[in-house]
Amino acid sequence: MVAAHPTDLRKALNADEITPYFQPIVELRTGVLTGFEALARWRHPIQGPVSPDIFIPLAEENGLIGILTRNLLRRVFTVATSIPEELSISFNISPLQFGDRSLSQQISSAAKLAGFSLKRLILEITESALIGNMDQAQSIAQELKDLGVSLALDDFGTGYSSLRHLQALPFDELKIDASFVREMSDTRESRKIVAAIIGLGHSLSLTTVAEGVETTEQAEMLLRLGCDIGQGWLYGPPVPPSDLAAFLSTQSLS
Ligand code: C2E
Ligand code: CA
Ligand code: CA
Ligand code: CA
Repeated sequence: MVAAHPTDLRKALNADEITPYFQPIVELRTGVLTGFEALARWRHPIQGPVSPDIFIPLAEENGLIGILTRNLLRRVFTVATSIPEELSISFNISPLQFGDRSLSQQISSAAKLAGFSLKRLILEITESALIGNMDQAQSIAQELKDLGVSLALDDFGTGYSSLRHLQALPFDELKIDASFVREMSDTRESRKIVAAIIGLGHSLSLTTVAEGVETTEQAEMLLRLGCDIGQGWLYGPPVPPSDLAAFLSTQSLS
């Protein structure tokens, strides 16, 4: 993949080249679909697909993350109103955005405009979002909770892990990073770490979600360890909005 340039990104934003895809999330015990995670995709007209691991940081560094997030939110909420309303929608918030005082205001007006109920929204934030101003993070988190939004701690166990975040902020969900799930079948240690994270989550009354579930063996192991929810290739890749209706016709909903 060729390095993308900020000028390309600016153009892409104007041309609406960046769109959300939707990856299924299921209850491990029953396999029932509970919702989707929205994941941004950029197809560059010449370079082809650019990974969000490239263009999200690029947007952050160039002051474009606000526009990108607003753009995506609008599209995600619109798509969400066309699928069954019992399905949740998980949306990633960049660490920088979690320090933005107008975040909850933006989310609530975008939701109103689209007729989307914020009770369906789960905002995923990584721990790096929280290392800055904890007081501010707490008040933003509370504003979001007051709107009915749920909060998930993403990539748990990696990076700037601090148990203090779990204590200080009103999370509803803990997402176990895919790296633990991948190693779980190989070493007893990884398996024990996953078990410990699930135990920690449940003792704090959080829903536990495993990322990167690729095999039935992993799904069965996670279920035995008491994990609630799974997401990964096993249940389906992220798909464009135009494929959602076909995907949903294959699913049993709760
Ligand atoms: P993430 O939030 O941890 O998203 C999960 C990543 O795992 C996604 O990569 C997804 O496509 C991938 N994945 C899903 N199932 C499997 C599996 O079974 N095995 C493996 N190996 N991978 C799986 P993706 O879409 O490339 O996104 C990468 C990261 O970019 C995301 O990690 C998230 O941090 C960020 N990102 C994506 N979309 C957005 C967005 O709209 N806003 C922001 N702020 N960040 C985003
Ligand atoms: Ca995520
Ligand atoms: Ca994650
Ligand atoms: Ca990640």
